[in-house]
Amino acid sequence: MNIAIDPTSLTESALTRMARVADEVAAKYAADVDAVGRFPKETFEALKRERLLGCWIPKEYGGEGLSFTEICGLVARLGQACGSSAMVYGMHQIKMSSLIQHSVGSEWHIEFMRECARDQLLLGSATTEGGIGGDLRNSICAVEVKDGRYRLTKQATCISYGWESDAILATCRRHPDAASSDQVMVVCRKEDYTLRETVTWDTMGMRGTRSIGFELISEGDARHIFVQPFGEIAAQSMLAMAHIIWCATWYGIAADTVVKAQAFVKAEAKKRPGVIPPGALRLAEVSATLQKMKSLLTAGIAHYEAALVDENLMNSLMFIAELCTIKVSASELGTEIAQQSLMILGLNGYRNDSPWSICRNYRDLLSAAIMINNDRILGNTSSLLLMSKIDTSIGA
Ligand SMILES: Cc1cc2nc3c(=O)[nH]c(=O)nc-3n(C[C@H](O)[C@H](O)[C@H](O)COP(=O)(O)OP(=O)(O)OC[C@H]3O[C@@H](n4cnc5c(N)ncnc54)[C@H](O)[C@@H]3O)c2cc1C
Repeated sequence: MNIAIDPTSLTESALTRMARVADEVAAKYAADVDAVGRFPKETFEALKRERLLGCWIPKEYGGEGLSFTEICGLVARLGQACGSSAMVYGMHQIKMSSLIQHSVGSEWHIEFMRECARDQLLLGSATTEGGIGGDLRNSICAVEVKDGRYRLTKQATCISYGWESDAILATCRRHPDAASSDQVMVVCRKEDYTLRETVTWDTMGMRGTRSIGFELISEGDARHIFVQPFGEIAAQSMLAMAHIIWCATWYGIAADTVVKAQAFVKAEAKKRPGVIPPGALRLAEVSATLQKMKSLLTAGIAHYEAALVDENLMNSLMFIAELCTIKVSASELGTEIAQQSLMILGLNGYRNDSPWSICRNYRDLLSAAIMINNDRILGNTSSLLLMSKIDTSIGA
């Protein structure tokens, strides 16, 4: 589908356009998206209209060339209105980052990136696999290449917005005899694959991500396989992008609970002038926790940007360990913030039918610790720490 460009909309910053989508569309449909467990289609129609799906793509390929910080800002802003929408948008941007950073040497991927910007395509991800779970750096399935064509069958136990994606980036072994960690990533275009549902998605939170399990069967032009091995893509960008962008999503969702808590305390103060409401102290406490989460996020972005121009830093075990702990810490801080906000809001926050409700935020945030299980990540980090020195320096 070719989305007509509205030149006037692009005179506004991406953040202004995102605020409009968040406040006027995502917030309006968030409760229904959550209750029914459906894809937030109105939000994604609006994001396409505002041309926010391709805004990270460099200008020379038809995007706006936004920075990583700006992308995280957009994700967090959307998260304040609808957690599922923000997670879908964030995951799309994680896939986009692979195209932006790893298309070098492949005319096809560069052309596909132009198409993404022009047609505002939505990109999905298939890394999780039956028998492997959240172990990103191993695959069971393998791509077969013959006469310039690829064939791939993957038991993908979790593909968010699988039905709604325009393309799914799937990891697999390089060939049927390759080791489980010798992986590549394939851009499977909608017209090149079929999906068969194998696992439903009826979850506690993040219900609108529609992260259904599928058997993915795809066949297409072999040039759709990334030239760079997936191991390098994961180490040089995807791990950082995923952990930091997820962190931005959870930050937005958690920040919304603090906004509600503050409005509640202010309303209480207005009712009884001259009396400090009991929640005020807790408000100071939760705003400090939110600040901690923001610092973690901004430090992660700064450190990643420093690593982009410093190969030694990028490849250092300490840096990889830091990216892992950012995810673990952010997932814990998110629920801590929701709990602190709940203490301020009381029953008003606990009720599903109250304007102060933070039930959806809390349920969405609980997915953070298991989105690649924290125990798995800590297990990997502990191995890295046995081989490296703790970084006690200050500065990026
Ligand atoms: C909202 C949401 C959206 C998602 N969207 C996608 C998507 O679009 N595409 C995609 O590919 N995936 C997606 N995922 C899946 C995600 O990336 C992980 O793969 C998934 O959360 C792992 O689930 P798991 O707990 O079943 O598996 P695992 O992480 O494999 O964990 C299984 C069990 O093993 C235990 N365990 C802990 N540490 C280890 C270890 N070191 N080794 C072995 N087992 C260990 C854990 O306690 C856990 O109970 C999504 C997940 C969520 C929550």
